[in-house]
Amino acid sequence: MQKHIFCVTKNLAKGANKYLSRRKWLYICLTAICTITLIFTVPQLVAQPPQRFVAVTFDDLPVITDRNDDGVKLDTTNKLLASITKNKIPTIGFVNENQLFDDVTGQLNASELNLLRAWLKNGVELGNHTYSHINLNESGLAAYEADVVKGEIITKRLLKDYGKKMRYFRHPHLHTGRDQKTKQGLEKILEAHGYIVAPVTIFLEDWKFNPAYDQAFLHGNKAMMSKIGQAYLSYVEQELDYWERQSVKLFKREIKQVILFHSTTINADYFGAIAEKLKKRGYKFITIDEALRDEAYKSKDNYVGDGVSWLHRWALTQGKNFVLDSRPQVPYFVGAYNLDTSGQ
Ligand SMILES: [Zn+2]
Repeated sequence: MQKHIFCVTKNLAKGANKYLSRRKWLYICLTAICTITLIFTVPQLVAQPPQRFVAVTFDDLPVITDRNDDGVKLDTTNKLLASITKNKIPTIGFVNENQLFDDVTGQLNASELNLLRAWLKNGVELGNHTYSHINLNESGLAAYEADVVKGEIITKRLLKDYGKKMRYFRHPHLHTGRDQKTKQGLEKILEAHGYIVAPVTIFLEDWKFNPAYDQAFLHGNKAMMSKIGQAYLSYVEQELDYWERQSVKLFKREIKQVILFHSTTINADYFGAIAEKLKKRGYKFITIDEALRDEAYKSKDNYVGDGVSWLHRWALTQGKNFVLDSRPQVPYFVGAYNLDTSGQ
């Protein structure tokens, strides 16, 4: 009997030890789970992107493409506008009115006009990008002014139909003058015509990808289209990183940026993915008005020369050491493919 009681007690003690041991394991397991959760959560919290702001702009409206076909232009416009509206992106598009006229007959092309109406219908503001995408470095101021005035006639009428006014001007090639006299002369001309200059801080060379992308399409080379598209996405990511760092170098903070895209077939296919990239980096989409309220845009700019980002203009005005080197490059194969296939 005593032996039996001893055995029961021993078994109870064993059970208790077992119980304690289970509790101990439970404790160890919970501690491990908490530690693992912390290891994976804390860096994510720390790695949250900063709050960033960007105004999206498109140049060379209605559409600039080597696939010169009304259907392609309509498809390009619809795809761009679908990505813009899906992501609720306040946008401004800059028009070259010479695109609205038939090359042969000189008649106003109704389908090109309808493309501009589609941008307006979707809430996009339109601005002037000159009539013929004139090059200031070759034209001189008088011819340039005439091209600015010629380039606003139809767009102003369309804007009025949508209760809007022409407000912004974007320089073709971002050329603002190779000398101070031209630069200051043009500033006065634009002011006299009531324009606000639309600067660019995130300066993409997206236009270099599109001719190759169009050539790949025309050759039925889907694999090359995809290769160019993927290279473009990776290039955009590198440029975003570069211009964010350039802003911090110059202003010790990330300013409200203005980004430039072109109304092209490659952007029709990839702008949606780029919008997602921007959101992942913490960007909120704002109007160009809101971006320009950032004090940075009051920075002194006495830069003269070829077209560059305003971040570089301000940096160069303050001294060359403010300009970051190693700006991302468009991959060599993109330009090479275009030259190989376009017969140039
Ligand atoms: Zn342009």
